[in-house]
Amino acid sequence: MRLPVYLDWNATTPVDPRVLEAMLPCFSEDFGNASSTSHAYGWKAEARVRLARAAVASAIGAAPEEIVFTSGATESDALALLGAARANRDRGDHLVVAATEHRAVLDHARRLESEGFRLTLVPPRADGRIAAATVASALTDRTLLVSVMAANNETGALNPVGEIGALCRERGVLFHTDAAQALGKVPLDVRAIGVDLVSLSAHKACGPKGVGALWVRSGKPRVRLEAQLLGGGHERGLRSGTPNVPAIVGFGEAARIAAAELATEPARLRALRDRLEAEILAGVPGARRNGPGAERLPNTLNVLFPGVEAGRLMLEARDLAVSSGSACSSASPEPSHVLVAMGLSAAEARSSIRISLGRFTTEEEVGFAAGALLSAWRSLSAS
Ligand SMILES: *Cc1c(COP(=O)(O)O)cnc(C)c1O
Repeated sequence: MRLPVYLDWNATTPVDPRVLEAMLPCFSEDFGNASSTSHAYGWKAEARVRLARAAVASAIGAAPEEIVFTSGATESDALALLGAARANRDRGDHLVVAATEHRAVLDHARRLESEGFRLTLVPPRADGRIAAATVASALTDRTLLVSVMAANNETGALNPVGEIGALCRERGVLFHTDAAQALGKVPLDVRAIGVDLVSLSAHKACGPKGVGALWVRSGKPRVRLEAQLLGGGHERGLRSGTPNVPAIVGFGEAARIAAAELATEPARLRALRDRLEAEILAGVPGARRNGPGAERLPNTLNVLFPGVEAGRLMLEARDLAVSSGSACSSASPEPSHVLVAMGLSAAEARSSIRISLGRFTTEEEVGFAAGALLSAWRSLSAS
């Protein structure tokens, strides 16, 4: 067992060895520019990108030509929000965004607000999920775009994106979902959801960092999108820049594996996560799960350790790599906007820890983690 035990898979994941193997030839052997059409180096790279595009599309029930490769979910969110809003100003000026979104969505929504768009943030229920009815009541005749994530990165809460998609379709409103946390953890079928734009990231699913995709629905009514990066006209003009072939190939392999293991891996993770949760709740008086009862990702546990600061708990449990309910980059940690939106106090949010499991998490590691957290809690609450 390697220490510290890594239980922060919602932050990033190791590259699966099969993914690395698929990527390696693209660095120095098949290094061509996938848009060089005049020689075999370019053709080979293009063929690899084509296969990767098909694999990513297949993992989400899409067609290959609907995939726009980007540098990650942050850029996909930017292209979805900025690109859709700026291209469809004539259709409205109002955005509806979940208050629990990742900063990549929230900050681009705020950017649009500063450009004159109006923004409504939809609060979650106490369990962290966004109710379709709350989204419905936020819609106006001026609403252009709704953005609600498929799965929350902090609590794992799964949102009713199918219901929200149906609602948006009925009202003629564009619907974007950030599915960075959903890929490989829950089934993801873009056609079934009734969505227009879906953001994905490779490194949350055992692929490399720095690559992602925006799925843009084809067919009628056409999704109008304004490119945010201009230049060589790559990715059907929606994202210029020489394609990062090794990363795209890695993403393709990661998506293929994620889809292939979807039948078994979520159940394995759920069993491990539930065991960890049960041991913590049994061992720490007053501990509780944030977002009780919510349908959530099988790998994620967000738990409140009453009266103990998460930062101190993590320092005490040094052999464990988990994350806290705050962005603790400075002396005064900002409590998580997700937990606060769910109704937790700032102090409760600062006492919360996110534990997230993944493909290489073992039973031994989970047993170790439970023990480490319980003993850290005991030593802090005794002092
Ligand atoms: C990680 C994450 C992002 C950012 O993805 P990058 O590929 O790192 O830019 C966006 N949204 C969600 C929900 C995430 O979990």
